[in-house]
Amino acid sequence: MRMSFSSDTKNELTHDRAERRCCRIAEIAGFIHAKGRIFAQGRDGFGIAVTTENPAAARYLKTLLAESLGVSANLIVRKSGFGSGGRAYELRIRPGKDAERAFAEIGGHSLPLERDAANGNDASRSGSRAEGISRAQSKRIGDKKCCRKAYLKGVFLGAGTVSEPEKSYNLEVVCRDESFAHAIRRLTNGFTGMRARVRKRRDGVVVYLKSAEQIKDMLNIIGAHTQLLKFESAMVLKDVRNRTNRINNCDHANLDRSLAAAAAQLANIDLLRAENRLDELPGRLPDLVSARLARPEASLSELGELLDPPLGKSAVCAGFKQIAAFANAPHLFTI
Ligand SMILES: [Zn+2]
Repeated sequence: MRMSFSSDTKNELTHDRAERRCCRIAEIAGFIHAKGRIFAQGRDGFGIAVTTENPAAARYLKTLLAESLGVSANLIVRKSGFGSGGRAYELRIRPGKDAERAFAEIGGHSLPLERDAANGNDASRSGSRAEGISRAQSKRIGDKKCCRKAYLKGVFLGAGTVSEPEKSYNLEVVCRDESFAHAIRRLTNGFTGMRARVRKRRDGVVVYLKSAEQIKDMLNIIGAHTQLLKFESAMVLKDVRNRTNRINNCDHANLDRSLAAAAAQLANIDLLRAENRLDELPGRLPDLVSARLARPEASLSELGELLDPPLGKSAVCAGFKQIAAFANAPHLFTI
C-alpha cells in the first residue's frame, strides 16, 4: 500500500529523537497536549490516554516516555471508525506514579476529560483532584527555540497532516479547542516568515498553512528533512507542468518524454544536494546543474544555448548521463 505524504512525514519524524532531554520532554508535551485525555479509573485516580492512527507515532511516544521520563504506557490496538480495516493505537498511562510523573513533567495543561465507560465515573465529577490537574501549571516550553521546535514536532506527530504536494499545499493541525489552536498558531508564527491561521471546522478547530514556502519551513522546523526534499521536487514538477500546459502548439509525446527526463535530472540534482556532493561534480557539470535549476522546463538544446560557451544537445545529454551516474553510483568516481 502506498503511504501518504503525511504518514511518510510522521514516519520520518519517528526515526530521529531529539538529543537534549529538554526537547524530548517538549516533544512528549506537544504530543500529549494535542491528543491526550485524562481518564479516571475507579478510586485509583487519574491516568492519561493518547490515541493516534499512526502506529510508528504511538511506538515512538511510548519509547520517549520510557526513556526520557521513566514512564511506562500500555499500547492498545483498537478498530478505528475511519475507513475499512482502520486501526487506532492508544497509549494508556495508568493512574499512580507513572501518571503523576507525566503530569509533573509536561504539565496537566487543560487536557479534556474522558468519561470512564467501565463505571460511569466522570473525572470532572470527581472533584478537586481533576481541577488540580487541569489547572496544573503547564511546563514552559516557550523559553528555548530548540524546545519550541520539538513541541511543534510532537503536536504534528499527534494531530498534524500535510497533503500530497503534487495535489495541493496544505499543512494543518486539528485542535480540540480554540485556545489550544491559538497557542499553536502563536508558537508557529514565532518563527520567521510563518503566517499560520486558525479556522473553525466541523471536526474541530484547525491551525493551517497554505503557502508552499511556509510548509517547507514547517517541515524544516519539525525536522522532516527528507520529506522537505520530496516536497521541493514535487513543487518543481508541478511548476514545470503548469508552464508546459500553457504552451499550446507542441508535440505532447515529445514533451512528456522531455519533462520526464527533466524531472529525473532534477531528482538526481536533489539527491546530490541532499548528500552535499554537488561541489564534487567535475568539469562543466556544475554549469549544467545551475542551468537546469534555473530552467526546469527547458529542452536539452535550450539548456545548451544557455551555457557559456554553448554546448550542443548531445553534449548536454551526455552531461546529464554523467550526473545521473555520479548521483547513483558515487563509488565509480572515487579515486
Ligand atoms: Zn530543548
